[in-house]
Formats: sequence, C-alpha cells, structure tokens
Amino acid sequence: MPSSQCANHHICQETALATAEAHCDKFGERLTPNRRDVLRLIWQSHRPIKAYDLIDLMSAQDAKVKPATVYRALDFLLAQGLIHKIDSLSAFTGCSHPNQHDDCYFLICQSCGTAQECCSPLLAEAITSEARQQDFKLTRTVLEIAGQCATCHQTAPTIAGQEAR
Ligand SMILES: [Zn+2]
Ligand SMILES: [Zn+2]
Ligand SMILES: [Zn+2]
Repeated sequence: MPSSQCANHHICQETALATAEAHCDKFGERLTPNRRDVLRLIWQSHRPIKAYDLIDLMSAQDAKVKPATVYRALDFLLAQGLIHKIDSLSAFTGCSHPNQHDDCYFLICQSCGTAQECCSPLLAEAITSEARQQDFKLTRTVLEIAGQCATCHQTAPTIAGQEAR
C-alpha cells in the first residue's frame, strides 16, 4: 500500500502505469501518450497535484500541449478510476487499485501534502446504513481527512497552530 513512506517510489510509479495499461486493455480503452504522460506526472509523488501544475509540466515537455489536452486527459483518467480528485485541495492523485472500490477515504498530511488512500469497508457500511436510515440515495462518497502523517508527526510533533499533547 503506497504511503508517504513508500520505500521506492519509482516502483509505485511504474506499477501504477503498468496497472493503468492493463486496465485500459481490459476495457478496450486507449492510454494515449498524452494520457500516459499526465498519469505519470500525477504519480511523480503521493502529493496531489493541481491541474495548472500539470499543464506547466506537460507544456515544458512539449510546447504544443494545450490546457484542453490536459483537462481531457484528466477527465479520461477520472472516468476510468485511475486517479481521484481531492476536492479540498482541487488536486489530483493516482489510484493504486482502480475499480476495486466505489468509496475512498483520504488521509491528507497538512505538513508534507501527501494523500494516503484508504478504503475501509467498515466506514462504507456505516455511511451506507446512515444514508438508508435517512432515506438518502448516495451517489458518491469521498472523505478527506486532514492531519499529519506518521513520518511528519514523528519528526515534528506539532501541527502549525496546535500544541502537542
Ligand atoms: Zn510511492
Ligand atoms: Zn482509489
Ligand atoms: Zn506528512
């Protein structure tokens, strides 16, 4: 499971790209060079990246790349479940296990900016049963939980503006 402390991020990135290739093959979709490049850039780290940063990086590689190209690639990757959008950051992060879950939960570190994806079936069950009691039809559940990751709180045990306990 990738986290902010992954031992070798190069492996995370390569695995994610291979998973995406296999996913597209299976569903008859095409991971075009632009789509692949955007996905590779998103997987540069476990820190969610904003669309305009991706546009900068893409146009630095190829001056012909237009913002619309990047947005189209993002739409494709989102639709395929290969990336997630973190609404609170307006940024994108790679999905390490596309199409294995409908609901995700992110632990977002406010110190280093990494987002760790969790998919606890217990949380999903709690939310589904709560919604059922309220006769509420769920379409999408994304929980974004802010805090400090293990690496960060072990090295610097306070969050800005908050005392250590
Ligand atoms: Zn990694
Ligand atoms: Zn995911
Ligand atoms: Zn951190």
